[in-house]
Amino acid sequence: MSESANNAPVVLDIRGLTKKFPLEDGRFLTACDNISLRVYKGQTLGIIGESGCGKSTLVRTILQLHPATSGEVIYNGENLLEATGEKRRQNRRRIQMVFQDPTAAFNPKMKIKDILCEPLRNFGLIKSRDVDAKAAELLRMVELPEDFKDRYPHSMSGGQRQRVGIARALALEPEVIVCDEATSALDVSVQKTVCELLIKLQREKNIAYMFICHDLGLVDLMCKQVAVMYLGNVVELIEGRRISEACRHPYTRALLKVVFKIDFARGEKIEPLAGEIPSPVELPPGCPFQTRCPQCMDVCRRQKPALREVEPGCHVACHLYS
Ligand code: SF4
Repeated sequence: MSESANNAPVVLDIRGLTKKFPLEDGRFLTACDNISLRVYKGQTLGIIGESGCGKSTLVRTILQLHPATSGEVIYNGENLLEATGEKRRQNRRRIQMVFQDPTAAFNPKMKIKDILCEPLRNFGLIKSRDVDAKAAELLRMVELPEDFKDRYPHSMSGGQRQRVGIARALALEPEVIVCDEATSALDVSVQKTVCELLIKLQREKNIAYMFICHDLGLVDLMCKQVAVMYLGNVVELIEGRRISEACRHPYTRALLKVVFKIDFARGEKIEPLAGEIPSPVELPPGCPFQTRCPQCMDVCRRQKPALREVEPGCHVACHLYS
């Protein structure tokens, strides 16, 4: 594993990952365009952007739920995307996922203990006589009462089910957990406790998270690094907790303006982004944000800006900073 600037080893090195979906008329929808990111051990990489920006496709391509069009995802010195058969299965053991709606991922007829231990059974890592004890241990990890193991998913609240989803992801002791909008469906107070739980588990187990979210305030708090995506591109990569003072890209700044605050001044308005979003099937040449950018210049319509480091820890893809 290579070392990062902050001395944490890289666990996932995503290099030039592109995903295009073929359409019936022969054209292609580009969901992710040449994305390079690193996920560091024990740290959280946040991925943020509007619906349809490609953030979920990115993680699903990393997890080989969609075949990549091109690019590499290096894990333990090997390209995950080339793994097949048993090797691919073993890789999946080390990279787990927590979904937005755990209920949809659970069999409603299974007890919580069986849901929790199903991944271990799939890998032949548990005997039937050990299921109760292991389920109790996993429930303790996510701060749920042990006797929940004999419940069914429908008899739990949304926050409790999401804790079960996290416990299930922990069962195989992964190095990376992908949280795909894992807190988005929860009430704000429940969201806070689930985020606190994720942070606590990360400290205890040194797990890396990829945290997919559309709440800029939340990723800023949760993440060591935040990648901002727009129309399949990473337009800014910035340290968490520095977004409000250090972000540069016009899209990130526009997102900041629409973050809901409880201290809005009287008469202050939320200003939605103006301009049309181009079709991902027919992206114009140049900057993907040009149709909504108030600072668009001629060069922006001709040349696509590359993601460049503009100060330590801050990368931006914008001609204003070329
Ligand atoms: Fe705006 Fe141009 Fe920067 Fe794109 S490259 S964000 S259009 S200024």
